[in-house]
Amino acid sequence: MKSDIEIAREATMRPVIDIASDLGVDRAQVIPYGHYKAKIELDYVNSLQDRPNGKLVLVTAMSPTPAGEGKTTVAIGLADAMNQLGKKASVCLREPSLGPCFGLKGGAAGGGMSQVVPMEDINLHFTGDMHAIGAAHNLLAAMIDNYIHWSNELRLDLRRVTWRRVVDINDRQLRQIVTGIGGPGNGFPMEGGYDITVASEVMAIFCLAQNIEDLQRRLGSIVIGYTRDREPVTAAQLQASGAMTALLRDALAPNLVQTLENNPAFIHGGPFANIAHGCNSVIATQTALKLSDYVVTEAGFGADLGAEKFFNIKCRKSGLTPDAAVIVVTVRALKMHGGVARDALTEENLPALEAGLENLGRHIRNCGQYGIPLTVAINHFADDTEAEIAAIKTYTQSRGLEAHLCTHHRDGGEGAIDLATQVADLADSSQAQFRTLYDDHLSLWEKARTVARNVYGADDLDADQKVREQFDQFEAEGYGHFPVCMAKTQYSFSTDPRLVGAPGNHRVKVRELALAAGAEFLVVVCGDIMRMPGLPRSPAANNIYVNAQGQIEGLF
Ligand code: ADP
Ligand code: MG
Repeated sequence: MKSDIEIAREATMRPVIDIASDLGVDRAQVIPYGHYKAKIELDYVNSLQDRPNGKLVLVTAMSPTPAGEGKTTVAIGLADAMNQLGKKASVCLREPSLGPCFGLKGGAAGGGMSQVVPMEDINLHFTGDMHAIGAAHNLLAAMIDNYIHWSNELRLDLRRVTWRRVVDINDRQLRQIVTGIGGPGNGFPMEGGYDITVASEVMAIFCLAQNIEDLQRRLGSIVIGYTRDREPVTAAQLQASGAMTALLRDALAPNLVQTLENNPAFIHGGPFANIAHGCNSVIATQTALKLSDYVVTEAGFGADLGAEKFFNIKCRKSGLTPDAAVIVVTVRALKMHGGVARDALTEENLPALEAGLENLGRHIRNCGQYGIPLTVAINHFADDTEAEIAAIKTYTQSRGLEAHLCTHHRDGGEGAIDLATQVADLADSSQAQFRTLYDDHLSLWEKARTVARNVYGADDLDADQKVREQFDQFEAEGYGHFPVCMAKTQYSFSTDPRLVGAPGNHRVKVRELALAAGAEFLVVVCGDIMRMPGLPRSPAANNIYVNAQGQIEGLF
């Protein structure tokens, strides 16, 4: 079996201006970055507003396992299959973070015969968006410290500056640091730290902004810390948001690349799926919807996190209305949710698989709450047995849904034709009557409680008095209409990653809150959340190099 990078390298790519031209975009509206990557002019994007939208299809999944379930490959395979059926379909994905590529092997640009290309570029510097986001974030950090150094007229409390710094490299050494040491010429000593760039609130804002004005307004609303009198201080008060927007202006135009089968792929923005909402930019999705009849997009992690935020944050905020959703499952993951250890997954085990189907069942129930038609994709792995696949199909039928065996990873779009046929039917059926899970006017506490009970299957939500008071404080400060962005483990419906399947009788404890006033959501942290990953003992970086032909080896 060829590696992903070998398959990608053998792809026959078409010039990106031709991909744009298939979408009806004139070359004058395309800003090429080399021959195979481009941005679409923002003015042109804005000019499309009055066109009708294509159909929007979300790809989500059961609760993931460390093995990875294949949402990205299914999304790509599905879009390719729809094109094979003669439909005009695009895929919209997140931009991968560069840092993790050097940690564990495995890219975020699909795999096998379902990839987006040029994959080395997409996984590394791409069109520079990630660097622009990092620069905008760190400019604000520098302006805060500079403000304190020169005047601090607002009496910012040095111990309550919440804005940290970011870098797009896994670097655990930087998680907690002290800055400004070395005497009066070097600023004030303060505690600080770095997150990985994709964890930046600037990334979340970038992905929710409707246009440049909205971006600038939201950046200005970022709360960077508190005064001695506990008053919030914003980026606008430090006059930083204009310059931040200037750094992001070019990045905000959506990126266009192609799948291995030369179909359009928009890859733009990539926020975390725990402390942020985990979907690509609103601008990219909207652009794709104006230019294609079908748009397939992915939300991070399982449906309890990614899909929940796609619906309750991204769609709510942007007015997007999905027409159908696909839930991805694998035999391996179902067996793990049925209690099988990771090293025993290759053996057939029907009782474990059937036990694990409870996990899928709860995701089906949950996704049903949004009023859109659903289907299930079985992402096929070589060790799956026929009996196991049949058991999944029998189960989904009992839940009133079809399940389609998908071999896109091995066969490309051809391997997802059945899925694509039904997805197109569902999307065209106009059955969807999209609704969010809770209304804006519900209190922040009640919103989090609704997600805990109706999505996680928890008995109730708990928090210490101090956290409860913070909920009240954010209501009092005028943020009560925000949606909540739940941050919890992706491995379980509960807050304990070991509770696989569909745990009942559990309670969700809120540990802390983090206001994202620019992204316009309240992050409700329920568990340990990593904002700056480290590298493993033997990082993938040890085996990456450039060969004599100038090609990157060892990346995936
Ligand atoms: P997700 O988007 O759910 O995180 P991906 O689609 O990125 O998952 O897949 C995770 C990893 O598993 C990737 O390295 C991908 O190439 C691999 N993978 C996905 N589907 C298959 C499959 N059917 N067979 C083998 N490997 C697969
Ligand atoms: Mg993915």
